[in-house]
Amino acid sequence: APARIAVTGLAVMGSNLARNLARHGYRVAVHNRSNARTKALVEEHGHEGDFVPAETLEELVASLQTPRQIIIMVKAGGPTDAVIDELVPLLEPGDMVIDGGNAHYADTRRREANLRDAGLHFVGAGISGGEEGALNGPSIMPGGSAESYRHLGPVLEDIAAKVDDVPCCVHVGPDGAGHFVKMVHNGIEYADMQLIAESYDLLRRVGGMTPTEIAEVFRGWNSGDLESYLVEITAEVLGHFDPETGVPLVDVIADEAEQKGTGRWTVQEALELGVPVTGIAEAVFARSLSGRAGQREAARDAFGATDVFASDRLAGGLVEDVRQALYASKVVAYAQGFDQMRAASAEYGWDLDLGAMATIWRGGCIIRARFLDRIREAYDKNPELASLLVDDYFRDAVKSAEAAWRRVVVGAVEAGVPAPGFVSALAYYDALRSERLPASLVQGLRDFFGAHTYRRTDREGSFHTLWSGDRSQVDA
Ligand code: NDP
Repeated sequence: APARIAVTGLAVMGSNLARNLARHGYRVAVHNRSNARTKALVEEHGHEGDFVPAETLEELVASLQTPRQIIIMVKAGGPTDAVIDELVPLLEPGDMVIDGGNAHYADTRRREANLRDAGLHFVGAGISGGEEGALNGPSIMPGGSAESYRHLGPVLEDIAAKVDDVPCCVHVGPDGAGHFVKMVHNGIEYADMQLIAESYDLLRRVGGMTPTEIAEVFRGWNSGDLESYLVEITAEVLGHFDPETGVPLVDVIADEAEQKGTGRWTVQEALELGVPVTGIAEAVFARSLSGRAGQREAARDAFGATDVFASDRLAGGLVEDVRQALYASKVVAYAQGFDQMRAASAEYGWDLDLGAMATIWRGGCIIRARFLDRIREAYDKNPELASLLVDDYFRDAVKSAEAAWRRVVVGAVEAGVPAPGFVSALAYYDALRSERLPASLVQGLRDFFGAHTYRRTDREGSFHTLWSGDRSQVDA
């Protein structure tokens, strides 16, 4: 019998996805550039389901039922284009090519347009959850045509993570929408991790707590509003001791954070769209700063190693204050990420259902959290929500956290412990709800040096002041 679906690219992600499909009863054709991986997969896991190994792409294509569905799981970028170029001449109109790699959404838009011209469906599907998720149920964010989703949706929903029996997979929108949403997911993941790291740093350096004690705190937080995969694994990492030295592992891990680039993409795209994703940007820059070893050393030499300054701001109730600051800052980071998806949706005509994006992220992926149910409810109530922050539930949550949040920010500043995520989240909140912003002065300055004109609060039109003349106002 022909295979139902195919996977090409059998490194860790591809082989786990193929096994997930096979375990769900699909006959899966499998292929890899170097045949050794294909052989190894079938030898080690052939008993788990129905695999059809193929040595060449021709064989892979020939083994499939039509319309064909072929998932590409190779290194993102050039390798993905190489595989597509090799595959396309072998396919027939109506066939579907699914890219499950971490592609940039602009590449996905380009590939989708090219394949559409050839009568093929190209589906850029963001897949989150790492190797564990690929095997046991990832969060899947497929873009592409509605028609392709009619064929593919049932299979993808079958192998996706489930929360309350609801699959963490919906058709996101046309062309690059799926990979865009995956990108924002990763950006939010950066912000989430930065806020968690700042919480740890404050508890450790201001509160004088040990990693083991802080692990306990996170374990406790994981049974409340903050319940999430990242908070859960924070307790695991902080509670782990290095078997070699016997000290907490976190103390022997080099403090220079690396990045593969999806956080950077998120910020770059936010700059293009003009959406302030300050939480994600601070997180990306915090990683960059941590990696500048030479500058850090020079600064330590110049200023002396950092002491924590005394601050009585956080003397009482530090743990609870930090919990509230973490929660409120996290609401801001998600609000910004959802703003970015809404802006892209308008820009590219994707018609994204933001509540559904929260549903996809409830399970399988790295930012899975209880919190996402609240986000879905917020958008279910009002799909046109101006900001997640103004939804009744989040407004009340942020307002009740506000006093603690301010204490943490002031306390961190007084103590000299960097908390860029908390500080900028609070500044965003304060800016958003300000009656008047000093942007009026910025406009005045722009008009002074560049005749860039300004609008007035009391009447329509554009105006310019003759700054180097008699300073009268003229219509612009
Ligand atoms: P890698 O990104 O390490 O890629 C290795 C695979 O790509 C191998 O199958 C390799 O074939 C193939 N490959 C590389 N170059 C070419 C080429 N020019 N032509 C054909 N095949 C090529 O694998 P992963 O499994 O880690 O990831 C796969 C995709 O999934 C990537 O896009 C990744 O970003 C994404 N992803 C990864 C996650 C993770 O947690 N690792 C999570 C979510 C997405 P060969 O064996 O012949 O070298």
